[in-house]
Amino acid sequence: MQDCIFCKMVNGDIPCVKVYENESILCFLDIAPAAKGHCLVIPKTHAENILEISPELAGEMHEVISIVAKGMLKGLGADGFNVNMNNFKAAGQLVMHAHWHMIPRFHGDGLQLWPQDKYESEEQMQAFSQKIRSGI
Ligand code: 5GP
Ligand code: ZN
Repeated sequence: MQDCIFCKMVNGDIPCVKVYENESILCFLDIAPAAKGHCLVIPKTHAENILEISPELAGEMHEVISIVAKGMLKGLGADGFNVNMNNFKAAGQLVMHAHWHMIPRFHGDGLQLWPQDKYESEEQMQAFSQKIRSGI
């Protein structure tokens, strides 16, 4: 897609530091890492968000995420990793080409990816579940 920074990386029009690729998926380093080694995994064909990813491609993404995760654990010596995806602007998506963030984690690294809230009651919790189910 024209004017998409990640499509330009796929096409080689702008550089990126590659970690892994196959025919349909590219993994490269995020330029502003939450932790060094922070990767982005993207489909090579433009899709805006997870809702535009087919189940087949999702399966391939999962495979590549597992491959890169092994690299983080064995190659970087990470103790764990986060997989995160921002969908739509309200969720913090800045680049409108679907991408999975992979962040290597180490015991005691102190990185907190999001603050947590709490429910006021069991009823409120049930109501939220019901609202989500009503839209499925
Ligand atoms: P989002 O907020 O859309 O989930 O994440 C977009 C990510 O893309 C950000 O973490 C940002 O640092 C990364 N990013 C944006 N522009 C570039 C770039 O030109 N090169 C690389 N390697 N990463 C980028
Ligand atoms: Zn794109």
